[in-house]
Parts: sequence; C-alpha cells; structure tokens
Amino acid sequence: MINKNKSLTVVANWKMNNDFNSSLDLVIKIFSYCNMIKSVEKIICPPLVNIIPLYDQFKNSSFSLGAQNINENKNGPYTGETSVNMLKNYISHAIVGHSERRAGFHENNYNIKLKTQALLDENIVPIVCIGESIEIYERKKSIDFLNVQIREIFSEINTTNEIIIAYEPIWSIGNKNPADPKYVEMIISKSKDYISSIKNLKDAKLKMLYGGSVNSKNILSYTNQKNIDGVLVGSASLNASEFGKMILKISSNE
Ligand code: PEP
Repeated sequence: MINKNKSLTVVANWKMNNDFNSSLDLVIKIFSYCNMIKSVEKIICPPLVNIIPLYDQFKNSSFSLGAQNINENKNGPYTGETSVNMLKNYISHAIVGHSERRAGFHENNYNIKLKTQALLDENIVPIVCIGESIEIYERKKSIDFLNVQIREIFSEINTTNEIIIAYEPIWSIGNKNPADPKYVEMIISKSKDYISSIKNLKDAKLKMLYGGSVNSKNILSYTNQKNIDGVLVGSASLNASEFGKMILKISSNE
C-alpha cells in the first residue's frame, strides 16, 4: 500500500554514457515527458564533464543536477580528480560509494565517509551507496554486512542535513536481476532502525532508496513499500521514454 505521506525521489545514474550532444538530447527528451511533475524529486547525474555545460538546462527545470563521484579533498595534487568546491555551484547532490567505484577504483568505507563529510560541509546532499555481494546475500549475512558499512561511513558524521542512502545489492545491478521488493523493504526498514541508533544522526533527514534493475514495469512494486523512499536507476535512465514513464507512474501511482 502506498504511504501517501512520503515524498518519492528518483535518481538517474548515467555512469560513463553519453557525450555532450547525446546528454543534451536525453535531457531535453526527459524534460518534455515529465518536467511538469513536481510531486516527485528528480535528480540526474550525468558524466562529470557534462555537468557544467548542462547546468543552464537544469536551472529553470524541476530536475536537480548531481555528480556521480567527487574527491574528498578541497584541492591539491590529485591528478584527474574533481573537488566539491569545483562543483558546488552546479550540483545539489552527489553519489558516493557506488559499488562500481568500490570494485574498480579501490574505494572503501573510509574514503566514502570522507567524501560524505566533504559534501555535507558544502550543503550538497550525499547519495551514499551501500550493498552486499551475492556471496553475502546467499550466506544470509546481508544485515550484518550493511550495518558495518553504515557504521564505518556514518558513525563519526554529525549532521542535521539531508542524507540519502541508496541500498544497491551488487547482484541486482545491471538491468537483469531485480531484488524482491519485500526483501528490499525488510533490509531498508532494518537499516533505518540501525541508523536511528546512531546518536549523531538522530536529527538528520534520512531517505533510503533502492537501486538495481528498476524499470517502468517494476518501479511501483518498490515505491509502494512503506520504507522505500524512491529508486536509483542506471540502465533504464538512459532511455528517455522509459525514464519518463517511470516518473509518471510513481507520480500517479498507476
Ligand atoms: C546502478 O548501477 O546504480 C544501477 C541501479 O544500475 P541498473 O539500474 O542498471 O541496475
């Protein structure tokens, strides 16, 4: 049953797809489908190089612009990296700790904690990804594993700001193996309980999303769960009509 009191969030993670022209084309098409929908929080995270050139399109839209990653340092000898300072005038949100960055770029909970803090320091909303591997899931150790991720990232963070956590089981990412909505609801509800036991986060505004093979056919099965506050979408967000349909569906709940 839909919880009519919750406001839903949809995050698009375009990953390393789309040059500037195709990003612009996709933005224009997505806006034409659902820019008029104000009841859903909509955040698009294009590749970093396209953020500043797309900024003017977003400025007068109902969409927010986010980054897919940031460096935790303010400036310095970090070749190839981009700091929050450099992006803070253009973005309102940033994803940190995506499993692809943990696996491919050796990021760990410690780096992710620093990135989260760097974003909060500049009033950018962090979208912090957590999630277990298939081995942990099959051993039924998901809750223990996620609690460690949450503790290592958040136990020293003291904030009243908004924080978004995206629960993305690694085995469900890639548009082929969506997790069971009841399982996701159980995990998110237990994770929220665990987070509420972390004293310094007690006044933070927390939302928890699900990410992993969400599309227009299955989106409502997640957003209609009591504790799931929205979704993070990879593959399906690269198709304007599919992504537009997802937003329309959750705004009308049909
Ligand atoms: C992701 O990688 O964050 C993701 C949710 O991807 P997909 O929707 O393709 O599973």
